[in-house]
Amino acid sequence: MDTDVLIVGAGPTGLMLANQLARRGVRALIIDRHAGPSRQTRALGVQARTLEIYAKLGIVDRALELGKPATGGNLWAQGRKTARVPLGDAGRALTPYPYILILGQDDNERTMGDRLRDFGMSVQWNTELIGLEQEPARVRATLKRPDGSSTEMAAAWVAGCDGAHSAVRERCGITFPGAPYEHVFFVADTQATGSMVPDEVNVYLWREGFHLFFPLRGNDHWRVVGIVPPELREKSDIAFESVVPSLRSEAGTGLAFRECSWFSTYRIAHRSAARFRDRRCFLLGDAAHIHSPVGAQGMNTGLQDAYNLGWKLALVVGGRAEPALLDSYEEERVPIARRLLNTTDRAFKLVVSDSRLAGLFRAELLARAAAFAMRFERIQRVAFRVVSQTGIHYRDGPLSQTQDGLPDGAPRAGDRFPWLRLRLEAGGAIADLFDALDDTRFNLLVVGQPAPPEAIQGLDELLRVHVIPDDADNAAELARAQIPRPSFHLVRPDGHIGLCGARLDAAAVARYASARLRLDGGAARPRAATDGAMR
Ligand SMILES: Cc1cc2nc3c(=O)[nH]c(=O)nc-3n(C[C@H](O)[C@H](O)[C@H](O)COP(=O)(O)OP(=O)(O)OC[C@H]3O[C@@H](n4cnc5c(N)ncnc54)[C@H](O)[C@@H]3O)c2cc1C
Repeated sequence: MDTDVLIVGAGPTGLMLANQLARRGVRALIIDRHAGPSRQTRALGVQARTLEIYAKLGIVDRALELGKPATGGNLWAQGRKTARVPLGDAGRALTPYPYILILGQDDNERTMGDRLRDFGMSVQWNTELIGLEQEPARVRATLKRPDGSSTEMAAAWVAGCDGAHSAVRERCGITFPGAPYEHVFFVADTQATGSMVPDEVNVYLWREGFHLFFPLRGNDHWRVVGIVPPELREKSDIAFESVVPSLRSEAGTGLAFRECSWFSTYRIAHRSAARFRDRRCFLLGDAAHIHSPVGAQGMNTGLQDAYNLGWKLALVVGGRAEPALLDSYEEERVPIARRLLNTTDRAFKLVVSDSRLAGLFRAELLARAAAFAMRFERIQRVAFRVVSQTGIHYRDGPLSQTQDGLPDGAPRAGDRFPWLRLRLEAGGAIADLFDALDDTRFNLLVVGQPAPPEAIQGLDELLRVHVIPDDADNAAELARAQIPRPSFHLVRPDGHIGLCGARLDAAAVARYASARLRLDGGAARPRAATDGAMR
C-alpha cells in the first residue's frame, strides 16, 4: 500500500481532512491538479462552528487576525432599513465566536495549508487523479504527474474532495442529481460608501431581486453579491458598471463606488450526490453537495464533512475501530446536506424569483415579517444556531444513544455539546470547556457523580474523563444548558455527544463503544505507517 488515505483536491475540504488525519498521525497523500493554492476569494463567510474547529486545529487566532467579524445583519427593503439580526447578542451564550468571520476562501486555504506543513505534510500540486479502480482491499489510483507522465498507486481509502466536477464521484458512478438555477450571480470587491451599516452584513431586498454587502478588511471595502438584472443575463461580457444602476436604484443614490478590484459572474446549481460513499471511496464538500451561496454555508459544510470523517478514518486506519464505523459518515452527513439544500433552495427561490407576487412578498411582507420576528430573543437564537452551524445535530444517526432519565430540554446524543464556562478543578479558575476538550480523543463529562472506577473497556487511552466539581458557579452554568445532576455525556472527538444519560454505568459505555463505535478494545494492532509518497 502506498498510502493509507489518498485525498483528491486541496480546496478547503481536502485541506481540513488532511490536517485532521495528519494531527492524528495518519499518513495521507493530498494531491491537486492545480499548480498552487487558489487566489480567488470565493467563499467569504466563516461560521462560528468552523471557528470552533479552527480553534482545536490551532489556527483560529490567525484566522481572526486576517478576517473581520460581522456582528450583525441588516435587512433593507425598498431603500428602508427594516430589521437587524444582532448576531453578537444572539450567539454570545452559544459560542466563543458570536459572529460571521469575513475571511476569503484563499486566506482560509493558506492558513490550513501552513498548518498542514507544521504537521510535516504538504500538498502535491500539479497532480491529477485520472483513473480509479476499486479492489476489495485497496483502491488503485492513476495519477497524472507534473511532467505529464502517469503513475499508479494503491491507497486503502480515497477521499474525493475534488469539487463540483469530482472525478472520484464520476469514477465511482455516483450520480449528482439536481438542477442549475437560471439566474446569473455577480461578485464584486469594491470600495464604496452609502447607507450600509459599517462592519455588518447588509441585505437589500427589492421587488426585482436582492443584493448583499459583506464588510471586508480596510476602510469602506465591501464585497457585493447579487443577481445580474434579467436584461443582462444573456450577455457574456458584463462589466461591473452595468450592474451599478440596479444597485443604486435600491441601495439609494447616495451609494458611490470608488473602486472595483474584482468582478466576476457565475452560474450556480443545487445538487446532492446520490451517495457519499462507494466502498473505499468517500465524497466530501462540493463533490458531494452544491447549493446557492445564500447563507454562506457551502465551504463551512465541506469543512464539517471533513471533521466528521477525519476521526473515524484515523481510528480505522490505526486499527482501533472496525471499518463499519465509516458507515456512519454517510448516514450522518447525507441528511445534513439534503436539509441544507432544501433550505437554501427555498430561500434562494424566494429571493431571486422574477414573479410579481414574489417581488411584492420579498420587498413588503418578508421584510416586515423578519423585523417582527427579530424582536424575539428566542427567534434570534434559533436563527443564529442555524446560520452558525452550531445547531447541526446527528440525533437520528447510528452513533447517537440517549438513555432514559434525562429531562426534555437536556442536550441529547447527536447534539454538539454546548459551549460552557466551568470550573474544571475544585478551587480552580473558571475555564472555557471547549479548550479543555481533547478532540483527538473521546471526552467523558461527569456531573454530580464520581468518575468510573476503572478504565472503560474499548476506550481506555482514547478517553479523557472530566468530573465537573459541584459548586454554585458550575450549578448555574449547567442549569443554563439544562444539564441535570447527575448526568454524563460521552463526547465524540468532533464535539458531538455519542452517549448520554443520568447514572454513569461503565459497562454500558463499554457496550456502546463496542456496538456503536465498533471499537475493538485494542485487539487489533495499529498497522505500520505507510509511505505517503508516490511511487
Ligand atoms: C462566488 C462564490 C462565493 C461563495 N461564497 C461562499 C460563502 O460565503 N460561504 C461558503 O461557505 N461557501 C461559499 N461558496 C462555496 C465555496 O466556494 C465552496 O463550497 C468551496 O470551495 C468547496 O470547497 P471544496 O474543497 O469542497 O471544493 P473546491 O474548492 O472546488 O476544491 C476542489 C479542489 O479539487 C481539485 N481537483 C478537482 N479535480 C481534481 C482531480 N481530478 N485531481 C486532483 N485535483 C482535483 C481542484 O483543483 C480544487 O482545488 C461560494 C462559491 C462561489 C463560487
